[in-house]
Amino acid sequence: MNERQAQLVQNTEKHRQLILDAEKWLWAHPQTGYTEWEAHGYLLEKFRELGYDPVLAGKIGGFGDIPGFYADADTGRKGPVLAVFGELDALDIANHPESVNGMTHCCGHHAQCAALLGLAAALKEENALVGLCGKIRLIAVPAEEMIQLGFREELRRKGVIAYMGGKTEFMHRGILDGVDLAMMVHGTSAGEGEPFDFRCGCGNNGCMAKTIRFKGKSAHAGGAPHKGINAQYAAMLGLQAVNDLRETFPDSDTIRFHPIMMGVNCAVNIIPDEMKIESYVRGKSLEAIRRENTKVNRAMAGAALAIGAGVELRDRPGYAPERHDRQFMKLVEDCCKELAGEDRVCFEYDSWSTGSSDFGDITCVMPGVQFNAAGAAGTFHGIDFSVADPERLCVNSTKAQLFVIDALLENGAAAAKKIVAEYEPEYPSIHAYLEAIDAFVLDKDAVKYDENGNVSVDFQNI
Ligand SMILES: [Zn+2]
Ligand SMILES: [Zn+2]
Repeated sequence: MNERQAQLVQNTEKHRQLILDAEKWLWAHPQTGYTEWEAHGYLLEKFRELGYDPVLAGKIGGFGDIPGFYADADTGRKGPVLAVFGELDALDIANHPESVNGMTHCCGHHAQCAALLGLAAALKEENALVGLCGKIRLIAVPAEEMIQLGFREELRRKGVIAYMGGKTEFMHRGILDGVDLAMMVHGTSAGEGEPFDFRCGCGNNGCMAKTIRFKGKSAHAGGAPHKGINAQYAAMLGLQAVNDLRETFPDSDTIRFHPIMMGVNCAVNIIPDEMKIESYVRGKSLEAIRRENTKVNRAMAGAALAIGAGVELRDRPGYAPERHDRQFMKLVEDCCKELAGEDRVCFEYDSWSTGSSDFGDITCVMPGVQFNAAGAAGTFHGIDFSVADPERLCVNSTKAQLFVIDALLENGAAAAKKIVAEYEPEYPSIHAYLEAIDAFVLDKDAVKYDENGNVSVDFQNI
């Protein structure tokens, strides 16, 4: 660690309590995507107290009101713009012992926001921006978890949002316009035998969000089942068909299909006339997702047909596969090693994860890295998730991010400029990317019967 880095550590230490308090407060106020007004309000106030003038995502002209904002730390010198994200949203997990109104931060996003606030505070220190150029755009972003698809579809229908994911929506709103590169830190747990402080893989799956609604006919389940059409059986048959298709998914595409049945109109003595399934199709490329999703939709249509039911298919763009820029990743790795020591940092340049994040949408159009800070414990998205060590999870990640900001933007931002110059985007612009995923939208009443009992099937997006 050099003298400058020691200074950055000190800049963070001054705000240690602010960071730790924020972690606690945000943990106690969990809300799910596009409803995170409490975290939004808390952070907004803190940012203003620090002297920032945040731009509210919900106040950008012509768009609906949603939580989230950005604030720039400006060096006053021309140079690249680096975005840093903190995610606002929690998960529905009512049986977590510390859930509040059925929600908990069991993905640890609140810790990102605590670190983002720490970053905001440290960047206001007198010497923080000395020797740097460009801008750091600090972004509190809603709705990373792709859940509550019905609620989001309703927001979409009302014109409040255009996209399910918060970062995608922020791209749509122009908040990433003019940004050159991006980073964020997600929590992780360094389980037993994995004593590291920071880690990073090369990327993770993208996904598509699906809602599948089987339509049957209700009848007395005991007295007259022959008068009904069982939507639940049709749904079960559809899932069975996809299970049988799994071996046709090429291993190299790392496809994941993990449906949940969202039973509706259920009573034990009524043949269910409706059964809703939510799922993603995840995969390593948008092309693979699109290809395998067609099979899934065909299976659902076939199942409906077999039972004499109908099925509505609703596909929405999810997230693009996330690919970390290798050069940027190396720079982050070096910074983490300076901070935590060689043996506490585990960067794997070939390791691919099968989760998904809307940070993938960002890495399609600009170089980006999402790395992990240890300090959480238990199972992510599980009822035993907890923050075991907020010091490592939040304070350390603030320091690491400060190191990265410095490494990118010092010396006339030579490192950032080189990364940006050598990056090959998958899409030439944000606009081109959004246009490409818009083609994923599908709304089909896939199986229709005429008066003679003949059937027409239409499950494709062509
Ligand atoms: Zn999560
Ligand atoms: Zn997460």
